Amino acid sequence: MKACASGNRVTGSSRRPGPPSSSALPVSSRLVVDLGALRDNYRALAARGTGAECAAVVKADAYGLGLEPVARALVGAGARTFFTAFTAEAVNLRALLPDAGIFVLSPSLESDAAALLRERLVPCLYDRAGVEAWSALGTAQGVRVPAAIHVETGIHRLGMSEGEARALGREWKADGGRWLDLRLVMSHLANGDDPKARSNRVQLERFRGLRSLFPQVPASLANSAGVLLGPEYHFDLTRPGISLFGHDPHYRDTAPRVRPVATFEARLAQVKHLRAGETVGYGATFTCPHAMRIGVVLAGYADGLPRRMSSSEGKSPLRLAIGPHRVPVLGRVSMDMTVVDLGSVAPEDAPPGTMVEIFGPSVSIESVAERAGTIPNEILTGIGRRVPRVYVNEDVSLSGAG
Ligand SMILES: *Cc1c(COP(=O)(O)O)cnc(C)c1O
Repeated sequence: MKACASGNRVTGSSRRPGPPSSSALPVSSRLVVDLGALRDNYRALAARGTGAECAAVVKADAYGLGLEPVARALVGAGARTFFTAFTAEAVNLRALLPDAGIFVLSPSLESDAAALLRERLVPCLYDRAGVEAWSALGTAQGVRVPAAIHVETGIHRLGMSEGEARALGREWKADGGRWLDLRLVMSHLANGDDPKARSNRVQLERFRGLRSLFPQVPASLANSAGVLLGPEYHFDLTRPGISLFGHDPHYRDTAPRVRPVATFEARLAQVKHLRAGETVGYGATFTCPHAMRIGVVLAGYADGLPRRMSSSEGKSPLRLAIGPHRVPVLGRVSMDMTVVDLGSVAPEDAPPGTMVEIFGPSVSIESVAERAGTIPNEILTGIGRRVPRVYVNEDVSLSGAG
C-alpha cells in the first residue's frame, strides 16, 4: 500500500546485551524486555489484520521499553510502518530506520515543518490550518508533501470536523492531489477496549463515510483494541501500540491474545524481623498484628511503582512475587523503596539479593494497574528513567547484521 516506505533494512550499531543474570553491574531494579515475545505479538496482530498492513505505534520511547531495540525487533518481525506522537520521537526513529514509513500523530507544524520535510516524516494533519501550512511549505519548496488526514469520528481529541474533511476532500479531488500527497485517512476509537460499546459502531459508520471522501487513499481506524474488535475495523492499516507490548485490552472478556513482554523486578536489599505493634514506612500506615519477617525492595515511585500500590486498611494488598511465592506490599511505597511481607517464603528462599517481581509472568501488569487505579499503558510509560532496560531474546541474526 501507499502508506509505507519500502524496505526494512536495519542499520547502525548492533547491540547484544546479555541475559539479565549475567549483568555485571549491581542492579537495584530492572525492566527485562522480551524481544521474542514482542516479535510474536507483532506477528499475531499482523495475522489478524485480514489484508491490512500492521503498523507499530512506538510513541513515548516505545511505551517506555526503549525505542531502538523495540523498533529493530519490530522490523525483524516484518514491520515497515511506524507511528510516533511527536516529531522529535520520529526524528530519533528515522536515524534508526532510514527506510521505514513514519507517521507523526501530534505534529506541531509551526515548529516542526522543516524537520518533518527533511526526515521524510508524514504528519497526521488534524485541521485546516495545518493542511494549509503544510501544503504551502510544499509549494514553496516545489515538492508534493506527504500527509495523513486525521478525521474526527467521536473521540474529540485531535481530528478535523466532518465539515473540514468534506471541504478538503472536494478540493483534493478537484486538483488531483497536486499539492498534497495523501498517504492515509485515519481516525481513532474512544471505546475500543469495550467490545460491547455502541459507540464503536457509530464511529465505524462515520469513518466509512469520511474515508469515502478520499477515494483510493488507504484508511486506518484500529489501535490495539480496534485490531482485536474484528476485521471490519481493520481497513488498510492497523495501528496497535499497547498490545505489541503485552496487554490485551479485552482481557476481561477473552483469554489474552498477546504475550507479556516486560518484567519489572527489584532487589531485596534487607530482611528484618518486627515485633507485634511495630509499624512500617512513612505515616506508619501499617502496624504488625504479630511478629513478622519483612523485606525492603529497592524500587519506589521514582521507579514507576505507583504510590497507590501502597497497602491500605480494608483493601487487600498488592502481592508481588518471589519465585512461586506471593509477597504482599506493606505500608506506603516510598520514592526508592517498597516493603513486603516475607511471611509466606522460607528465609532460605528469600535472602537479601533476591529479585522480587513487581510485574511480569507471575504478577500481571493488569493487576498492578488495577490496584493503582490506572491502565497498563500508564504503568509502562511511567517506569523510571533510572531503571535499566535489559533486552532478552534479541534476534541474533538481525543484531549481527548492522
Ligand atoms: C496511541 C495511539 C494508538 C495506539 O493505541 P494503543 O491503544 O496503544 O494500541 C493508535 N492511534 C492513535 C491515534 C494513538 O494516539
